[in-house]
Amino acid sequence: MKRIIIAIDGPASSGKSTTAMLLAKKMSYVYIDTGAMYRTCALKAYREGILLSDTAAIDRMLEQLSIGIEYRESGNRILMNGEDVSDAIREEHISRLASDISALGAVRKKMVELQREMGKKGGVILDGRDIGTVVFPQAEAKFFLLASPEERATRRWKELQAKGLKSSFDEVLKDMILRDKNDSTRALAPLIPASDAIIIDTTSLSIGEQVEVLYRHVLKCIE
Ligand code: C5P
Repeated sequence: MKRIIIAIDGPASSGKSTTAMLLAKKMSYVYIDTGAMYRTCALKAYREGILLSDTAAIDRMLEQLSIGIEYRESGNRILMNGEDVSDAIREEHISRLASDISALGAVRKKMVELQREMGKKGGVILDGRDIGTVVFPQAEAKFFLLASPEERATRRWKELQAKGLKSSFDEVLKDMILRDKNDSTRALAPLIPASDAIIIDTTSLSIGEQVEVLYRHVLKCIE
């Protein structure tokens, strides 16, 4: 069976990463979480105290940055220059910084190059904001997942609660709306569905149902 490229885009907490991870498992494909790559850039800039307006420092940081993905049964781990930063990149201040740093051309250029290299052989599922529009416009299957901001904030808030992190629901919702606005209105690779993407509203779907809907479409693309 042909091993294709599957692109899953959409706003924060629209169900992209869990769906992508489960679908990848079901199909024995490699899952690449491109948001985690932008988060890793943000973490490195944060730790080094780099201002996003300091383009020379950003360029230097990108030259020194290596991002690795360790594929594990329990979920992929993200390595920043060999250090496992999978948990550190999920902190809320890094979410905000990732959204800001991902608007920089130098950052996007390097991340897109890495993602194209990782995915070029096929048999991959990438999730992000610009996979179907910029990274792999030739992807054989493209999806754009949506859900209401309230539903997405509820999902995010529950995740934070489960991790024992205290945040008010209103704060999570406000952050999410701000991040959506940043991601959709930036000049470079804004969050928009590719013209040939299948748009799926996940508001009232369970994760299992989301995976099934995508899987049925993917089967049609590889038959
Ligand atoms: O998907 P996740 O919420 O982890 O992504 C973090 C941030 O990285 C997003 O808010 C977005 O600004 C950026 N991003 C991007 N392009 C991608 C993936 C993520 O700009 N392909």
